[in-house]
Amino acid sequence: MLPKSYDGQDCSLARALEVVGERWTLLVLRDAFYGIRHFSDFQTHLGAPRAVLSERLRTLVEHGLLTRRPDPGQPSRPVYALTDKGRALWPALHALRSWGEQHAPAPGGPRRVFVHDSCGGELDATSVCGTCRQQVGPEQVLASPGPGLNPGLGQDAVSTALTRPHRLGQPLTVLAAAPHPTRPRPTTQADVRPTPPEAIGPHRLTRVP
Ligand SMILES: [Zn+2]
Repeated sequence: MLPKSYDGQDCSLARALEVVGERWTLLVLRDAFYGIRHFSDFQTHLGAPRAVLSERLRTLVEHGLLTRRPDPGQPSRPVYALTDKGRALWPALHALRSWGEQHAPAPGGPRRVFVHDSCGGELDATSVCGTCRQQVGPEQVLASPGPGLNPGLGQDAVSTALTRPHRLGQPLTVLAAAPHPTRPRPTTQADVRPTPPEAIGPHRLTRVP
């Protein structure tokens, strides 16, 4: 049986993996960059077992990568948000995703592409904009649907919200499905406040499958 920690390893990579090396953890962080903030939305999008997700979120809060605060609109529903320490993982996360695109590609291409908000240039694996050559931080990145995004997969409210281009780190607008086709669900039950259109910068990838 594998040991549960890297106690014998005096290496920064091993210490980083103690925090983010568990299964699901990097995907939780990815979703946090996508603007997912509520437990139920993480669970809907990831499909991770509830106990596992709860443990991963707890670890990330404990290590200061996420904060956990009551939602001002729904105090019983905590909001998880990236801290500066969590946001600092963006280059590593993006580089790992780029590696996956190159060495473990999905059929049909990437599900999502990441572009510089001010010029629309696509980022390379080191988060440098292919158009203006600036190093781009997550707050300047628009995540947009890529050619591999299959609209037939993941038709839940979170996946649907993620088919719209939006800025990383901004709360994702998740509109709950109407309980009845002629009776829309009350807006008070919406999970996340809408992001005003003006908050989304210019971009060239506007195709929404
Ligand atoms: Zn650029």
